[in-house]
Amino acid sequence: MADPQGVLILAEQDEGRLASISGELLGAGRALATALDVPLSAALLGERAQADALVAAGADRVYLLDEPALRPFLAETALPALEQLVRAVQPRVVLLGHTAAGRELAPRLAVRLGVGLSTDVSGVRWDAELGAVVASKPIAGGLAIAEQVPQGTPQLVTVRPKTQAAAEPPPGHAGEVVPFAIDLSGVRPRARVLERVRERAAAQRLEDAEVVVSGGRGLGGPENFRYLEELAEVLGGVVGASRVAVDSGWISADRQVGLTGKITSPKLYIAVGISGAMQHMAGCSTAKTIVAINTDPDAPIFEKAHFGIVGDFKKVLPALTAACRELRQG
Ligand SMILES: Cc1cc2nc3c(=O)[nH]c(=O)nc-3n(C[C@H](O)[C@H](O)[C@H](O)COP(=O)(O)OP(=O)(O)OC[C@H]3O[C@@H](n4cnc5c(N)ncnc54)[C@H](O)[C@@H]3O)c2cc1C
Repeated sequence: MADPQGVLILAEQDEGRLASISGELLGAGRALATALDVPLSAALLGERAQADALVAAGADRVYLLDEPALRPFLAETALPALEQLVRAVQPRVVLLGHTAAGRELAPRLAVRLGVGLSTDVSGVRWDAELGAVVASKPIAGGLAIAEQVPQGTPQLVTVRPKTQAAAEPPPGHAGEVVPFAIDLSGVRPRARVLERVRERAAAQRLEDAEVVVSGGRGLGGPENFRYLEELAEVLGGVVGASRVAVDSGWISADRQVGLTGKITSPKLYIAVGISGAMQHMAGCSTAKTIVAINTDPDAPIFEKAHFGIVGDFKKVLPALTAACRELRQG
């Protein structure tokens, strides 16, 4: 049965488990669905158990695309599958994660459907006057918020991970799982997944971390990252870095935060010896709380930080780490 005015999210799963972005998209989608008084649906390229988990997580309806050809994920097969679903159910809004999969699929889907696309947004709301979804995103390193109205129907948006609260379905929430048959007979993928290599287990991904302690040129050398590692360990977080620190060879490139690095939205972002260039802030401006530690009271980072400590990191960090340790133990 078509759902012509509904809100559709693309759920993601990783080796059989729903990815956290799925719950976050359901949270953002629920607010829109409530405002529009329409059902909230999820598209799942996966299996029945994950579809049931999506209903439990708040979906009113889950379109289950359970085809062996869709596993493992490959944009070349996922795209026609998603396009067929969207054309069939005709949603008003489609939300995807601004994840590896979402970033591959969304622009191609937009071209195929002939609609616009807003990417990497940190907020979506229904504007009754405009009769459209308005997407908002930080620009210029978080100095300003841009509002965009993606053109066409459906309105297509990718949502930055960790910016949305997961849906909280009421007790007894019920939904349905609708198997959706797709036709991939004409699809000849040119790519094949040969092997999946997990990232180092020890290093939590910057994109998923709740606490990030980042260091910049002000650290003066690679040996001083140990101060940051100690604090990150006490807070259960991970270490990040500015591009200067990476380019200087002080830390590996996968730790870089910013425009040309990783985008992170942790609960707490501690910037140590980082001046606050807009290219750096582009990677952390959606953090819930930003704390800056810098010797220069006029450093631009203090304009963007919620809390600032003017001082040498070698004095500040050991004291901060000891205080946090005490609080944790107490
Ligand atoms: C196209 C492009 C893309 C870019 N992408 C990125 C990106 O993804 N990520 C990124 O980070 N940058 C990026 N940059 C670089 C960016 O513009 C800045 O040059 C960079 O972020 C500066 O790094 P920093 O803050 O570590 O160094 P600096 O700007 O040199 O700042 C060092 C800070 O440390 C402070 N300090 C010095 N000593 C101490 C001490 N003992 N204790 C405490 N504080 C101290 C100083 O007061 C200063 O504020 C990009 C640039 C371009 C042009």
